Amino acid sequence: MRPLRMFLLILPAGLMLLTGPLFAADPLFASDQLFDLKKAADGVYLAVARPQTKINSNAAVIVLEDGVLIVDTHSKPSAARALMEQIKTVTSKPVRYVVDTHFHWDHYQGNAAYPQSYPEGLEIISSAQTRRNIVNIGLPRIRNEIVRLPKAIETMRQEMARATGDRRRELAEEIRGTQQYLDELKSTEAVVPNLTFENSLSIYRKDRTVQILFMGRAHTDGDVIVYLPREKIVATGDLLQGKMPYMGDSHPFEWIRTLAALEKLDFETVLPGHGDLLKGKQRLRLWKEYLTDLMRQVSELYSQGATLEETLRSVDLSSYESRIPGFRGSVAGNIEKAYRVISFED
Ligand SMILES: [Zn+2]
Repeated sequence: MRPLRMFLLILPAGLMLLTGPLFAADPLFASDQLFDLKKAADGVYLAVARPQTKINSNAAVIVLEDGVLIVDTHSKPSAARALMEQIKTVTSKPVRYVVDTHFHWDHYQGNAAYPQSYPEGLEIISSAQTRRNIVNIGLPRIRNEIVRLPKAIETMRQEMARATGDRRRELAEEIRGTQQYLDELKSTEAVVPNLTFENSLSIYRKDRTVQILFMGRAHTDGDVIVYLPREKIVATGDLLQGKMPYMGDSHPFEWIRTLAALEKLDFETVLPGHGDLLKGKQRLRLWKEYLTDLMRQVSELYSQGATLEETLRSVDLSSYESRIPGFRGSVAGNIEKAYRVISFED
């Protein structure tokens, strides 16, 4: 395993999309609410993770006749519990289904909270590949974090001893948040999906049909989307979200094809894994265009014999900077990933 790959495994998904301290306190959000619940249709919501909870994914909340289906469980059980409390404001029904869209830590590590709160008849659903990824990559990563985080906290403590003013307060908050997260990882037994499928799984109720679909490899090799055909709503995890695509575990050429397949679905609203609710297919088309452009430019440069360094200097994706939030922080990583895929190093 190459060093960069290790780095990507240690810092995947949400973290790579965002800048700034992980656990910064924001005085604008003094309440305990971690999410903003946005209604997409009757009984369908997007729980948008608030900015100060940077390591949490969003969740989609879908109310069925006999219970609630939740898409994604954030980075830790306490965040999932906070969401469970919050959805009591819109439904009194129990949670029956949880869907993990993919294996990244900020989308599944809260799984354990759901069987703790609903021990009877709860199903945690994912693609068969995502379950394998959680077992083979996700769980070892948690064990690594339990070793790594105390050292990270110690380094922050040393820096705090020398820091003053805002930086000192920032570090104190970061240490507190990291310690809390570490305590949760240590005290929770990770829960993996108990119901898997290869291509699709549908839940039929009188008033609502839910289709959970694997449409091809993309952001990871196991992403699923959750589609409500009648409501024309799709929850997409990180296969399509509001910021830059994170490509560390992706299959970029297939991702473009998977986006094209998703584009053919009849939907009007996207509930993404990060960022706000999206209307229409503009974001999907923008990502498809960006990924196609990226892979085309890098392929051309590689075929002319360009090194990675030359490719990083020559690729021009600046037209996306104003259109995709988080562009600057992610573009170099994306070019590097593209180069490694094209040169068969990945
Ligand atoms: Zn992800």
